[in-house]
Amino acid sequence: MKIEVWQGDITALAVDAIVNAANESLLGGGGVDGAIHRAAGPGLLAECERLPELRPGVRCPTGEVRATGAYALPARHVLHTVGPVWHDGQRDEPALLANCYWKSLQLAESLNLQSIAFPAISCGVYGYPLYQAAQIAVTETLAWQRSHAQPMRIVLVAFNTATAKAYQQALSAAGQVA
Ligand code: ADP
Repeated sequence: MKIEVWQGDITALAVDAIVNAANESLLGGGGVDGAIHRAAGPGLLAECERLPELRPGVRCPTGEVRATGAYALPARHVLHTVGPVWHDGQRDEPALLANCYWKSLQLAESLNLQSIAFPAISCGVYGYPLYQAAQIAVTETLAWQRSHAQPMRIVLVAFNTATAKAYQQALSAAGQVA
């Protein structure tokens, strides 16, 4: 099964799970996080607030993922993951970003989901260089598909043309038709 690239608003997708690029508090923010909370309605924030804090203000550490319902969204679940803030590439950013993709897919599998859509995690205010992030998204999702017999439809959502191009380039570099 190939990795799909789709350009548009992730909140419109009727997939089993959309992934949210959240922050460690899981209490909402700007960018795709704000869009998901607005479209889902207040039930989403209420459920996030009920998730346990591991330490003050941290419900989901960077590189990890938590599942909630999707409320008014057409998707069935929201998987909240926290991408790394880009500093200089020397602070484990690639491994943390890879974890976001891999652990989201593992959680989707454990919930018996068959389709998942990812935004470009860390590529907004967290400042991850776009092409490097696209390469990680493509590498991890392809590796996951190749190592799992159970089919999972994986959509990489690009909110703008530059992101769509980065995904297409990364897929071509990995030998996949974009
Ligand atoms: P981060 O804090 O992880 O950088 P952002 O939300 O700032 O998260 O940006 C992540 C990516 O999500 C960016 O590429 C941004 O363009 C994209 N984005 C913003 N809104 C949406 C949306 N409604 N649907 C899909 N992608 C979105």
